[in-house]
Amino acid sequence: MSKVFTRDYWQDVLSALKPEGRHFIDSEHRASASGETFIRARPMDGKPGPAIARGNAADIDTAVTSARAAFESGVWRRKEPLEKKKIMLKWADLIRTHGEELAMLETLDVGKPIMASLNVDVRLCADGIQFYGEMIDKLYDEIAPTGPNARALVRKVPLGVVGVITPWNYPMIIDAWKLGPAIAAGNSVVLKPAEQSSLSALRLASLAVEAGLPAGVFNVVTGYGEETGKPLALHMDVDMIAFTGSTEVGKLIMGYAAQSNVKRVALELGGKSPLVVFEDADLDAAASAVAWGCFYNSGETCHASTRLVVQRSVQDALIAKIEAVTKSDIALKHPLDPAAQIGALIEETHLEKVLSLIAAGEKEGARRAFGAERVMTESGGYYVSPGVFVDMTNDMSLARQEIFGPVLAAIAFDTEEEALRIANDTIYGLAGAVFTKDMDRAHRFSEAIHAGTVWINTYDMSNFATPFGGFKQSGFGRDRSVHAIDKYCDYKTIWQQFG
Ligand code: NAD
Repeated sequence: MSKVFTRDYWQDVLSALKPEGRHFIDSEHRASASGETFIRARPMDGKPGPAIARGNAADIDTAVTSARAAFESGVWRRKEPLEKKKIMLKWADLIRTHGEELAMLETLDVGKPIMASLNVDVRLCADGIQFYGEMIDKLYDEIAPTGPNARALVRKVPLGVVGVITPWNYPMIIDAWKLGPAIAAGNSVVLKPAEQSSLSALRLASLAVEAGLPAGVFNVVTGYGEETGKPLALHMDVDMIAFTGSTEVGKLIMGYAAQSNVKRVALELGGKSPLVVFEDADLDAAASAVAWGCFYNSGETCHASTRLVVQRSVQDALIAKIEAVTKSDIALKHPLDPAAQIGALIEETHLEKVLSLIAAGEKEGARRAFGAERVMTESGGYYVSPGVFVDMTNDMSLARQEIFGPVLAAIAFDTEEEALRIANDTIYGLAGAVFTKDMDRAHRFSEAIHAGTVWINTYDMSNFATPFGGFKQSGFGRDRSVHAIDKYCDYKTIWQQFG
């Protein structure tokens, strides 16, 4: 019989939870060298969360030293591929076995609905570790063409110590997107999670060791960006930074790499993705895709479809359908309520940013069709209802800035050329979509939208086989798929002359 989840059930899970907030270095939890900790307000109700170690450059240095020692010893990279695979697969299994605990840690930190944490975030995290674990014993090197008296091996070798810096919106999933290929390739990792979402990263690390990952291969240092992320990115003994976060901080990361040891960087940055709807489209399908694409995870999604570019003749009909589907399907509730489809925003300062962008949009002439208001204030948490603004032009701040809240900007067009110009008129290039029954136009348009992923008559569909990442100021380097491994390796030529 399948388990029935109730709010009381989850409340009990939360009460029993004993989150670990200390760094994870060399296979053990440690307080910060400074002894300092920090406490955040829980997004769901504003109550104080657990104490988290406040790392600094000294903790980063200890973690990098541990990661380097593990790498140089070969304890992981030289292990039999089959053995490494078994450890990663066991790690994925442990993530599933501890799914409820991990889901609660995620919901406690970031305020997303507990059922989404369990059914989406935990599942995709485990799947990601499994995907790269399964690749380990299927990676071949090459022999290059040479003359008869030589043999040239082209080896794909790990880089060494990889620094991973992640954001708070899908912490466990994004961790897996980077840890999976980086560790499968044989590197050691120091992960700096966002200060808003440390708990799941710390638990992932202890589960990795339980699965058999040797000490020092995966370390976690918690703390603020300036105090821990920056020293990690500036560290002279780190070979690469894999970063997901804002474009603003991504630019700093490139600078730190240049100022230090020319370490390589991979950047997954922001987005302001267009979803283009032509008048011949299936409007019911489009409405559902727009609502889920923009409002899922309370809009705190890098590839959220925050710009609806809609043919003027169907604008009113489509907005009415979006409102209907939002109100009937996308329940905003307390995150521990199993019926919640969306929950709280990450923190009070972010709530204020979202509300101030909404106010700026109204001042510039955008008209509120529905929603986009602060709600559930009695909970003590940070909630904004999903909402849509119309009468917009693409130069308004609501259409240009990444709001990271459940707010859709609708912009009308008359011709296909105009639609394409609006869609591509952004500094970002992470994702986009086109809805039309005309397949010639769908393919023409999907080729012309300058973005890492373009969907046709759907939104946000993907699996691990497909690369994910951006063009333009959405960054470079791809997560997911077999290609992601390449980011964490480099080619080494070994030329042997004989005869
Ligand atoms: P952020 O850029 O503020 O922080 C990201 C990480 O960088 C955090 O761990 C933070 O502590 C760290 N950081 C901050 N300042 C730093 C500094 N000076 N040096 C080193 N590290 C520093 O982003 P966020 O608010 O956590 O996340 C939201 C952003 O992430 C949005 O812009 C969103 O689009 C983006 N994002 C992108 C993707 C993608 O795949 N393209 C996925 C998720 C989120």
